[in-house]
Order: sequence, then structure tokens, then C-alpha cells
Amino acid sequence: MTFTYLDQPELFVGVSDENSRCDLCHRQKPCFDAAGFFGEDELAFICPECLSNGRLYERDSYTCQGDVAELKRQLHEANPALNKADIDDLADHKTLELEKTTPHLVTWQDWEWPCADGDYARFIGYGSKPLYKQLANDSDAQSLFEQSLYYTLKEECEPGELWEDVPKKAIPDYAASSNYSTLFYVFKSLHSDQIITLWDSD
Ligand SMILES: [Zn+2]
Repeated sequence: MTFTYLDQPELFVGVSDENSRCDLCHRQKPCFDAAGFFGEDELAFICPECLSNGRLYERDSYTCQGDVAELKRQLHEANPALNKADIDDLADHKTLELEKTTPHLVTWQDWEWPCADGDYARFIGYGSKPLYKQLANDSDAQSLFEQSLYYTLKEECEPGELWEDVPKKAIPDYAASSNYSTLFYVFKSLHSDQIITLWDSD
């Protein structure tokens, strides 16, 4: 399964058993649970194929919410020659793609999907000290973590103290994540090696 903005949904989201029925194609097959989706239309299940093929565009339903204000800011910075209407079109197009074709990540709080380099970033896993160490190529994992905190979090926390709360053990999948009441969500830019971290708690 490949999705632009979420790596390895089989690990981080999971699918139901064979007995569920997709609300879009009505076929009985393993599906994503759609109960946590946003919007007016209530869906129970959507299969990975329908989600990736954009069938959610037909419904008032979306799986997450993008940080569109920051995306516009980044797009404007990268393309100063484009006028506001063009930036808005580009940002709205990318935001719909994110919100209509990305598997729903279960989180403690509702936060806006982060962006980097003028695009939404890809979720690559739950933050843990081993993961940051690996991302830092065994050099300074803590610095990487501190620099990766999304701008929305910079004001409200002391990065050095927050590092103490980062789990010491890797969190390989959604089932393991449910053992933690504070979670770190790690994203990678689609266009560079930039890492972004969000965190929340119950
Ligand atoms: Zn389907």
C-alpha cells in the first residue's frame, strides 16, 4: 500500500477483517475504518483502493485537516512571482489531495497536518529515541528532535525537557502506540530530508 502522505498504513493505520464492506465500491474486503473521518457524510469503511483512487472526493468526508495557512506561506516564499489567487489554488488543490486520499491516523488530539518545502509532509512513524537516532545517522538524535519540532509547538514547550518524554523503545505500529498516553508523530518532507515532529497526549 502506498500513500503520498502516510508511509506504511498497514502498520500505522491497519485494515479490518475480510467481512467489512466498503461504502464506496460496496465490495466485501479488508477496509480502513472510516468512523473517525471528518465531514457531514458518515462512512463506516473505505477500502484502500477507493481511498487512493480519490473516491472520497464524491463525499463530504475527509480524513484529516491540513495546515493550509502555513502551506500558503511556504508556497508564497518559494514562488514570490505567483499572485495570491494562484497560491490559493495551488494550496487548496494540495490540501484536498491530502484530506481526501490519506489514511486516517488515529491521534489523541486533532491537529493540523504539517507541511514542509511547500507541500504536506509524509507521516513516517511514531517518535522514539531509536527512531531519532536512526534518522540522525547515529549522530545527535536529541538535536535532530529539537530542530524537528513544528513551529506550532515551539512556544509552548522546552525542547530539552520534552526529549525526556520521548519513548526509549521503538514504537513499531499502531497497536504498540496505544500503550503511550503521550505520542510523538514524525513526518518527513517529500522534497528534502527535513524531519518534523508533532506531539500530543490524552
Ligand atoms: Zn472500495
